[in-house]
Amino acid sequence: MATVLIVYAHQSTGSFNAAVRDVAIKELSEQGYRVVVSDLYAMNFKANATKDDIIGDLKNPDLFQYGEETMHAWNEGRLSDDIVAEQRKVKEAELVIFQFPLYWFSVPAIMKGWMDRVLTQGFAFSLKNMYDNGVFKNKKAILSFTTGATESMFRPNGINGDINVALWPLQNGTLHFCGFQVLAPQIFWSPAHCRSVDRIVMLEQWCARLQGLMAEKALTFARCEWFGLSFEQGFLLRPEVKEEQESNAYGITTGHHLGKLLPPDNQTKVQAT
Ligand SMILES: Cc1cc2nc3c(=O)[nH]c(=O)nc-3n(C[C@H](O)[C@H](O)[C@H](O)COP(=O)(O)OP(=O)(O)OC[C@H]3O[C@@H](n4cnc5c(N)ncnc54)[C@H](O)[C@@H]3O)c2cc1C
Repeated sequence: MATVLIVYAHQSTGSFNAAVRDVAIKELSEQGYRVVVSDLYAMNFKANATKDDIIGDLKNPDLFQYGEETMHAWNEGRLSDDIVAEQRKVKEAELVIFQFPLYWFSVPAIMKGWMDRVLTQGFAFSLKNMYDNGVFKNKKAILSFTTGATESMFRPNGINGDINVALWPLQNGTLHFCGFQVLAPQIFWSPAHCRSVDRIVMLEQWCARLQGLMAEKALTFARCEWFGLSFEQGFLLRPEVKEEQESNAYGITTGHHLGKLLPPDNQTKVQAT
C-alpha cells in the first residue's frame, strides 16, 4: 500500500492546521493511501541536534561535529531510536506533507529540528546524490502551511516581500537538495483573520487539490548537470549554460537569478514548459 507521511507541527487540536491535516488524512485514506502522521508536539519530538542522537562512542569526542558523527552513526546503525523511526517513515513514503504554521518565514523550531536530525548525510543526501540526482528523487514533498499575513503582504511589492524568496531555502535548500520533487506549496493565507466561510472554502479547495496531487508536476529547479560538479570547478554554472541563459530576460530560478529578473512565481507555481 502506498504511504503518505504527514509531518505535522501544531500544538492545538482545535487549530486550523489540525483541520487541514485531518482533511488530508481523510481524503488520502479514501484514495487508498496508508497515511502516517508524525505529530511532533504530541511526540515531544527532540528538536536540538546533540551527541545524544548517536549511540555508542563518538569518532571524534574532542571536537564534536554533528554532520560527520551522524553520517558514521547512520552507516553503522547507531542513530537514536527516534531518528531511525522517522527515517523509516520517510523511506516508506512516496509523498511527505509538511503541515505547519509559518514561523518567522520558516517552519516552527520543532519541525526544523526534525529536518536537522532526520535528514542525515548518507540517509538523505551526499555530495554525489543531491538535487535532481538526490536520494529521494522518486519521492514527492509539499509544504502545506498557514500564515498570519495576507497574500498581498507576501507579494513582491507587499510589506513582507516576495513569498517565492521566503520559500527558496526550505524548498530548494532542504527538500530539493535531498532530491524530493517539490510540489507547489499549499498556502492558507491568514486563516485567523478571515471569515469562517472563507476557511471552509480553503479546506474544500485543499480537499479538491488532494484528489489530483499525486499526478501534479513538480516545481522547476536548476539541473545538476548544468554545474561543474567538483570543488575545482566550484560547483558553478558551466560557461556554455551561462551563455545559453544570456538571452533570457529572467533568471533560471528564484535563487539562480543570475542578476536578472526573478522568474515570477518560480517557487509557488509549476512553470509552463
Ligand atoms: C513564533 C511565531 C512566528 C510567526 N511568524 C510568522 C511569519 O513569519 N509570517 C506570518 O505570516 N505569520 C507568522 N506567524 C503567525 C502564524 O503563522 C499564524 O498564527 C498561524 O499560521 C495561524 O494558523 P493556526 O492553525 O494556528 O490558526 P488558528 O488560530 O488555530 O485558526 C484560525 C481560525 O480557524 C478556525 N478553525 C479551526 N478549525 C476549523 C475548521 N475545521 N473549520 C473552519 N475553521 C476552523 C479557528 O477556530 C480559528 O478561528 C507567527 C506566529 C508565531 C507564534
